[in-house]
Amino acid sequence: MINPYKSAQEQLFNVGKILKLEPRIIDKLKSPKNIIKVDLKVKMDSGKIKTFKAFRSQHDDSRGPFKGGIRFHPNVTEDEVKALSMWMTWKCSVVGIPYGGAKGGVICNPKKMSQKEIERLARSYIRAISPNIGPWLDVPAPDVNTNPQIMAWMIDEYQKIQKEKRKSLKWSNLGVNPLATITGKPLELGGSQGRTEATGQGGVFILQNLAKKLKLKPKETTIAVQGFGNVGYWFAKLAYDLGYKIKALSDSQGGIIIENGSLNPEEVLEFKQKNGSLVNFKGAKKVSNEELLEIKVDILVPAALENVIDKSNVKKIKVKTIIELANGPITPQADKILHQRGIINIPDILANAGGVTVSYFEWVQNLQGYYWEKDEVGKKLKTIMDKAFEEFWDKYKELKVNPRMAAYAVAVERVKKAIKLKSS
Ligand code: NAD
Repeated sequence: MINPYKSAQEQLFNVGKILKLEPRIIDKLKSPKNIIKVDLKVKMDSGKIKTFKAFRSQHDDSRGPFKGGIRFHPNVTEDEVKALSMWMTWKCSVVGIPYGGAKGGVICNPKKMSQKEIERLARSYIRAISPNIGPWLDVPAPDVNTNPQIMAWMIDEYQKIQKEKRKSLKWSNLGVNPLATITGKPLELGGSQGRTEATGQGGVFILQNLAKKLKLKPKETTIAVQGFGNVGYWFAKLAYDLGYKIKALSDSQGGIIIENGSLNPEEVLEFKQKNGSLVNFKGAKKVSNEELLEIKVDILVPAALENVIDKSNVKKIKVKTIIELANGPITPQADKILHQRGIINIPDILANAGGVTVSYFEWVQNLQGYYWEKDEVGKKLKTIMDKAFEEFWDKYKELKVNPRMAAYAVAVERVKKAIKLKSS
């Protein structure tokens, strides 16, 4: 098993060599600034109290408040949360939004819990970390197995805590604007327009930039997408709308491939909603998830799980480019081999940053109390993604390193500058 924290540190050490970083900068960035560890005692529906281990890792806040999602999953570990918080620092930095990085995790299996139990767990988690979060301190959001409903319970709990504090301090104006403490909220509770499609849309802006650089024409460019959830669906749909040929799609139950023309993601979604799976979609052939990764298309888009391209299958990859919409879909060993084979992979910290960018817009809208239309969100997202791609591409050409290292170089350099401006 690859330890994600060791991988994250190794990536930092490698980029440190490229950027000739001073040891004190590496020392500061190689581990989180704060790690909060708590045991949450939650009442289950049976009446029994169950203890859940929970973490919040705050990696770095040199460029702005800590920012990162909260994951509910049985495989959460302290090291995973620490690694993910470091990656958030780089993700926010590579797209130039004014945040540092954080991540939260609770070891639990929400698939085996009732909604009421999940609600009590969510409230208990926010109560435990409430002294350490806030609009200018640390701004959590959804991640694996957490969603706008869970954010709604969390923001409600946070507002209750603020009320209690106001009462005890007899200070009615304490705790201004709690809404900006958590993003990924439902629209009715201060969420942003355009958040649902943000990650897929951001990925499509990256696709358009890449196509320009590689002189690919949409109508002649074929794409395979692994994962047909929120991110995979929106990416495929928006790319299809621009004329790209969606050759293959898959979800956890298997995949489909079409010989001629393109799959229409909206029709596939409709089919999946009716039949519970996209397999057997009319006019398409079945493929397994492993086969989907190995078909010959121009662009492969992993949008499901981590570590799906590893040393066992990397040599069978036949594409020219990969856009990493999932977090960590390529293992470090496979990364090296892809680079040797001249395959360009646009790293996750850049390719899937559309989500955190619209989370940033949500925070801005909450702070100013003025909300934007969807078009405005889309335009602002495009500006940020286009600029970030250009900066990444220039660095990739300048350093002649693999794309991941180029994106890290942009990100880590910015964090280093912020640290040095504060203490040279
Ligand atoms: P989701 O749960 O909506 O969808 C995941 C999809 O992957 C589902 O269609 C599922 O059936 C499919 N899947 C599961 N196992 C699979 C397998 N073995 N092979 C093929 N498909 C499989 O999740 P999502 O929000 O779309 O997130 C997908 C990825 O993108 C994750 O890695 C996530 O961390 C990353 N990501 C998401 C966001 C966001 O805004 N949602 C932001 C950044 C990164």
